[in-house]
This record gives sequence, C-alpha cells and structure tokens, in this order.
Amino acid sequence: THFGFKEVPEEQKETLVGSVFSSVASSYDVMNDAMSLGIHRLWKDSFVTSMLPRLSPSLHQNPGTTIEPRASFKCLDVAGGTGDIALRILDRAREKFGSRDIEVEIVDLNQGMLDEGRKRVAKTLYYNTPQITFTHGNAQSLPSHIADNSIDLYTIAFGIRNCTSLPAVLSEAYRVLKPGGKIGVLEFGKVSNPLFKEIYRQYSFQFIPIMGKILAGDSESYQYLIESIERFPTQPEFAQLMINAGFQTGQLREGKGGAWTDYTNGIATAWTGVKA
Ligand code: SAM
Repeated sequence: THFGFKEVPEEQKETLVGSVFSSVASSYDVMNDAMSLGIHRLWKDSFVTSMLPRLSPSLHQNPGTTIEPRASFKCLDVAGGTGDIALRILDRAREKFGSRDIEVEIVDLNQGMLDEGRKRVAKTLYYNTPQITFTHGNAQSLPSHIADNSIDLYTIAFGIRNCTSLPAVLSEAYRVLKPGGKIGVLEFGKVSNPLFKEIYRQYSFQFIPIMGKILAGDSESYQYLIESIERFPTQPEFAQLMINAGFQTGQLREGKGGAWTDYTNGIATAWTGVKA
C-alpha cells in the first residue's frame, strides 16, 4: 500500500519535507494557532489525556533514607517538532498525578524544528532535566540507541502523513514499544458530514494558503500541507495499517471500543493501538 506523494520520487520526498518544515519552523507555533483557530490545542489536550495512564506520584527522598529508584515511564514522541505533545505529556504527569518519573524523547527529521523546541523547553521547569530530550532522526528508521521493547508510550502527532512509508513508521513503532506498550497517532482525518466537509474544503484550499502567505510569507509550503492531508488514508484504512503492523486496536469503527476517535467531525483523528 502506498499513500500519497504519487508524483514525488521517494528519495526527493524527504528533502521536500525537510525544506517545507525548515521554511515554517520559526513561525510554526503561531501558524498552528492561526490556521486551526486555536483548536489544535484542544485536540492535543484530549489526545494526551487519552494516551497517558494513571501514574504514581514521585517519591521525595528524606535525608538519611534510601529509596529504590523507580523506573521512569518512557515516552517517544516522534515527529515531535517543537514539543507540543511532549510538554503536554510532562505537564499532565506532573499536574494530574504528581509524577516526574516520566521521560519523553522527541525524535524529528528537521533540525530547525528541534532547535525551536529546545528554545521553548529552556523556559520550562523541564530544562536541563532528563525528562525531555531531543534527537535528530527519522520515524522510518529510528535512531539506533532506541532499543527494541524499550518504550511505554509512542506518540506521533501531525507527522506521519509526511512520511514516505506508513508501514515502515508503524513497524518501527511496534519494534521499539514494550509488549503492552501503547501507540497513539494523531493526524488529520476525513470529515464525515457532507456539508461540513465542503465548508472545510473551501476553508483549507482558499484560506490557508493565503494565511500562509501573509503570516509566514510562504503559501507553497502550506499548499503542500493541505494536499498531504487530502492524500492521507481514511480512518478505517489507517486502522487497518496499524493492525497489519501487529497492533491490537479496537473494532474498525469510531468512538468508544473503536480503533479511532474523531475530533471536530474528523478534521483530526486519534488512532490507538497496543503491542500484544
Ligand atoms: N508533533 C508536532 C505537533 O503536533 O505540533 C509537530 C508536527 S509538524 C506538523 C510535523 C513534523 O514532522 C515536523 O517537525 C517534521 O520535521 C516532522 N517529520 C516529517 N517527516 C518525518 C520523518 N520521516 N521522521 C521524523 N520526523 C518527521
């Protein structure tokens, strides 16, 4: 199965994706808010809430006592860009569960995005802690220090549609996850309501490239982003790819007990699975 980029040869696609994100890196966070009218924040919040299990609070060591160090909960946020998902994971673990025994490694293909992410983390309390790390690497063949069966939670948000081979990304995710580990994929889905679909189409093809031009001085990159959304598989097609990679998912349908959850009528969709 091959989805998307039919007219771009495989070897050129990564270069193309690289230049798209280099040209938008510095304006990326502002643009996300502008283009989604801030709604991407709600999608990401819901996604992270649904993916993170209950964690035990961190123990504080009293002087003169010894506590067995607890194994950290290990997350890998692939195509993690400027850290939107990673920071939400760490914030939720700390605010909701009082846990800081959790680490997120961000892997991204684009150095510009990673640099923006590092600048951002410098303003947080995770700065200079082992809780967050940035690695340059490709979702389709993860950096070699990330071992098989080593990850508790794998996330990829709005990144997988830029990858040349979806099966390669999913099989890498499967390999590095621990048995029982979870995968969450957040990506633009297909809108189901016909009227809403037409409005969304008009909005994305007319408004977004113009906004891209005005705010980032670059309409072509945004044109590309929109086309990549259109080419991405449907909700059940993508769920099937996850199953093909070995993941256990819910039923091939939307909602509770299903393989995916639609946000805003399917503008965004979260697929989840477990490594058996
Ligand atoms: N996850 C972040 C978020 O939700 O805000 C960033 C999403 S951004 C739209 C997509 C990211 O995917 C970019 O940072 C890009 O560099 C990265 N990317 C594209 N192809 C990749 C690949 N093959 N491996 C790793 N990262 C990739």
